[in-house]
Amino acid sequence: MQVSPDGDERWRLALQHSPVGMALVGLDGRLMVVNRAFCEMLGHDEEFLLTRGFQELTHPDDLSGDLEVFNRALAGEIDSYRLRKRYLHAHGRIVWGDLSVALVRRPDGGPLHFISQVLDITEQREAEQRLTAANAELEHERQTLEAIFETVHVGLLLIDRDGRYQRMNRRHQATMSLPFPEGHGGEAGQLGHVYFLDGKTPMSRDDMPSYRAMRGDEFDNLCYWVGDDPLTRAAYSTSARSVRGPDGELTGAALAYQDITELIRAMQVKDEFVASVSHELRTPLTSVLGHLEMLGERDGLPADVTAQLRVVERNALRLEALVTDLLHVAQAREGGLHLERAEVDLAAMVRDAVDAARRAADTRGITVTCETPGVLPAVVDERRIRQVLDNLVSNAVKYTPSRGSVKVALRSRQHDVELEVSDTGIGIHQHEVEQVFGRFFRGEEALRRQLPGTGLGLNIVHSIVVAHGGTVSLDSQVGRGSTFLVTVPGCAV
Ligand code: ADP
Repeated sequence: MQVSPDGDERWRLALQHSPVGMALVGLDGRLMVVNRAFCEMLGHDEEFLLTRGFQELTHPDDLSGDLEVFNRALAGEIDSYRLRKRYLHAHGRIVWGDLSVALVRRPDGGPLHFISQVLDITEQREAEQRLTAANAELEHERQTLEAIFETVHVGLLLIDRDGRYQRMNRRHQATMSLPFPEGHGGEAGQLGHVYFLDGKTPMSRDDMPSYRAMRGDEFDNLCYWVGDDPLTRAAYSTSARSVRGPDGELTGAALAYQDITELIRAMQVKDEFVASVSHELRTPLTSVLGHLEMLGERDGLPADVTAQLRVVERNALRLEALVTDLLHVAQAREGGLHLERAEVDLAAMVRDAVDAARRAADTRGITVTCETPGVLPAVVDERRIRQVLDNLVSNAVKYTPSRGSVKVALRSRQHDVELEVSDTGIGIHQHEVEQVFGRFFRGEEALRRQLPGTGLGLNIVHSIVVAHGGTVSLDSQVGRGSTFLVTVPGCAV
């Protein structure tokens, strides 16, 4: 580039007022003229800068690259160049500049000086660096998630809002052939060899986990069997969560499939064992009780022998009650609770059950109150409903510390019957409430206080109430007490 002498003043003016940092640089690198924008960019005043060379203002790491092109221009190889480099600000921080340099030549062609323009791109560079760091972090996170996605011992599936399969991990892929031996079309709700836990009832489209998840259903531990052959089939427990967009709209769902075949098979073995052991125990026990009865009827037995026989009989009766409970549980599990319904006076039954529990309550100073109508005729299985009453009332007494109270109330509303058994006892933790009706479940508080029990009573209560078409619920607070509410619709006459 060449500048004529009469254009010199205009150049100086343009240079001074340019919003871009500008400088005239001598052939040795010294700054000869700098504009205001240049001074502001580097935080130095003009006098200071005019005693320096660009070399002192450049970040040491960027100097060699800068000098290389500078020298190439001096050597006549190039007339101009552009580079991004770091400057040192007066306050010690770094200023990123986008530098454009042109060599000005004399009329005879020899080099005169350089004109440099520097655009402050610090903010842009910092934003770029932040973006790069964020991208690196995102990529790292993506790779971590990918590794987890593929290594967990759980099948994972992502579907979109229309139920189309978007992604699944290898583990889930490997399990697909059992329920869908003919292949899967990649859409939620395809029917296959999928059965409820009874192992017989096939799942309809509406019951299929992926179909439910597609419609926004969230659930945990949905258990079922997959596979046609009972010998090789597998059991799964599936959970689903909705995936939502930024405005909360449903965009799909994530499903996790856990293989629980071994657990279910172990539970089946346990159930079969319990059922067969209780059957085996029953016959000898009946014989023991029969002989005890005959012995008890004998005259002339010494008093101490009679007393010992009573102890044996009491314990044999306890054993029999336990075996009966076990048999009940096994029978109910196989769906075989057969009810013998007949009309009874429920009010009298409730009063009887409360009276039976009174002795145990009295010895521990527990008040038991009972509210029933005078009579309440209902059609139920008397023996089994008595079991419900005995279990609930005896539990209320057993799990209530001395001097507490137990309240039993029976009500009818048209044909529906409601029984409420509440106590001021030890209570049950909230997280256990759903489990108390399961088989062999014993609560933390009961175990901590070493209160004896088998964990069968409430399971029996539940199965009998359900067989009558009713429901049983629990409201409890640890240390405050519990209330069991049994509702049997349509049984009152
Ligand atoms: P068991 O009493 O033989 O342990 P149940 O099936 O009757 O078995 O009860 C299951 C568990 O529920 C008990 O172990 C106890 O932890 C809890 N439970 C039942 N009834 C009550 C109650 N009225 N108050 C506090 N906890 C109870």
